[in-house]
Amino acid sequence: MQKGKINVQTENIFPIIKKFLYSDHEIFLRELISNAVDATQKLKTLASRGDFKGELGDLAIEVKLDKKAKTISISDKGIGMTAEEVDRFINQIAFSSAEEWVSKYKTESEANPIIGHFGLGFYSSFMVASKVDLHTKSYKKNSKGVQWSCDGTPEFSLEEKPKKNRGTEVVLHVADDSLEFLEESRILGLLNKYCKFLPVEIIFGTEKLTEKKQDDKGEEKDVTVEKPRIINNTKPAWTQKPAELKDEDYKSFYRELYPMSFDEPLFNIHLNVDYPFTLTGILYFPKVKQNFEVQRDKIQLYCNQVFVTDSVEGIVPDFLTLLHGVIDSPDIPLNVSRSFLQSDANVKKISGHITKKVADKLEEIFKNNREDFEKKWDDIKIFIEYGMISDEKFRERAKKFCLLKNTEEKYFTLDEYKEHIKGQQTDKDKKLVHLYATDKDGQHAFIEAAKDKGYDVLLLDTPIDSHFVNMLESEHEDVTFKRVDAEVVDKLIAKEDEMPSKLSDEQKDKLKPLLQKHLDQQQFQVTFENLSESDHPMVITQPEFMRRMKDMSAVGGMSYMGNLPDSYMLVVNSNHRLIGKLLGEENAELQEKQIKQLVDLALLAKNLLKGEQLTRFVQRSVDLF
Ligand code: ADP
Repeated sequence: MQKGKINVQTENIFPIIKKFLYSDHEIFLRELISNAVDATQKLKTLASRGDFKGELGDLAIEVKLDKKAKTISISDKGIGMTAEEVDRFINQIAFSSAEEWVSKYKTESEANPIIGHFGLGFYSSFMVASKVDLHTKSYKKNSKGVQWSCDGTPEFSLEEKPKKNRGTEVVLHVADDSLEFLEESRILGLLNKYCKFLPVEIIFGTEKLTEKKQDDKGEEKDVTVEKPRIINNTKPAWTQKPAELKDEDYKSFYRELYPMSFDEPLFNIHLNVDYPFTLTGILYFPKVKQNFEVQRDKIQLYCNQVFVTDSVEGIVPDFLTLLHGVIDSPDIPLNVSRSFLQSDANVKKISGHITKKVADKLEEIFKNNREDFEKKWDDIKIFIEYGMISDEKFRERAKKFCLLKNTEEKYFTLDEYKEHIKGQQTDKDKKLVHLYATDKDGQHAFIEAAKDKGYDVLLLDTPIDSHFVNMLESEHEDVTFKRVDAEVVDKLIAKEDEMPSKLSDEQKDKLKPLLQKHLDQQQFQVTFENLSESDHPMVITQPEFMRRMKDMSAVGGMSYMGNLPDSYMLVVNSNHRLIGKLLGEENAELQEKQIKQLVDLALLAKNLLKGEQLTRFVQRSVDLF
């Protein structure tokens, strides 16, 4: 037996390995299984090149627990190592890279999550083990089994120990503070998290399955059989060629990724890039819930089929974190800090490329099957609008296929819509006034009034629409948006011809305080407009600017705005016959009653008459008869 001392450069790293990465201890399993997978893949490569002529046999990697002996073992049938290789790879290379890693980790911010996701390798075993045995036999002819042992000090032993099969078995003697890892459920959880899509079969324990078998009489019967439990799908959909996959395959892969989700995705985008970097993956557009809540952090990042992380901000463009799915790239430098990652040129390229691919796919569906695209629009619009607001490159691309829906459920591209409303909705300053509603029922009266005037009304009823509309206005100088209740219908689209007023300024000044008396001064302002005689006597509007600012603040930014009360205008039609009549009424009591009635009617039409006010209104109306 050979005894030795690992050449420690800095200081004893073992206690550091153990203490430092407290929350990430679990990654030891991923590191050891990744090594086992690498060793297996290397053997397959050798065999395919003709450099290994023996039987490959069953190559499954097995994870075993022994609660009594307090051990976890990971065994593979890969290339194995000779004694000389153990010394080189484990004592020297692996150790010095672990040492380097630890010193880096010590200087980087400890709260850096990404760094904990990668790099420590074989020596991560000591995060949970007080002693590690590595028993291995090389694939090379006439190799002998060797065992390396180390108890977490720089001292190790290396001795010959017969081994029947080719490959490596790593046995971890679990430390007393890590006994949780001897629980089957804990290991199963970790295997499901990190190893679900590894390219080599991983076996952990057994499972009972029901199979159909014929009995003596030739009858089919269900029998229970115990079989090795295979943890992973070695050929996940993203590693296959898009041409080989059907829609159903993508859907079933979605279920595999999110077993707890009951919704089907709307559609998918299969990413497949090999130049200038390698990247594969499948992104899904999920169905958005009623309340427009989208779960972020559902994209999983893999590196050669090994799960790395599901917090991908900084790696994919912000708006794409709303999508679901998988990205696999060996080219994303993971063992660096997140801030470095965000400024990394490669990552920027990758991120830009994903954006481009997503836009390509959307444009393709739009062009090839507009009907289908329109059907999906209501569900995908939140992603596209958010993308256009937050990502300039995507905005450029999406202009072509971004749709607007009107209250009659017809869809238009931005350009088509401009054409559509050009005739009726150009105001005196040559601006194209896009009218919209945010609530089809609540704004019904206003929508109808606009339609009667020959205007078209869009439906923009999601929370980010206010931001979206703002973005469109700043992008297109000739476009302005107004909600249908922003002004009385005659004023929505300002034209040259002003109607004359039947009221003098003195009359207006006289009437104003009488109206104001019935309204909350903080919320309501009274104004007079010269409208047609057939319009309503009074209408309550909600000026666009303040309302939109408030809506925008509700979905982010300017939080103080959200607390302000809504502000309204009570617009009095100077030309309405009842207004003239009110002024002429000499019985003050009756005049007050009439004013109250008209104000309440306007409030009612805007859905603002509530509680006691409403009760009194109903009573007053009955008293009229
Ligand atoms: P990395 O895997 O990043 O190279 P590790 O510290 O995990 O670093 O492992 C160091 C080296 O030890 C590997 O590169 C490999 O040559 C060797 N090794 C580790 N585990 C195995 C194994 N199960 N079978 C064969 N060789 C292994």
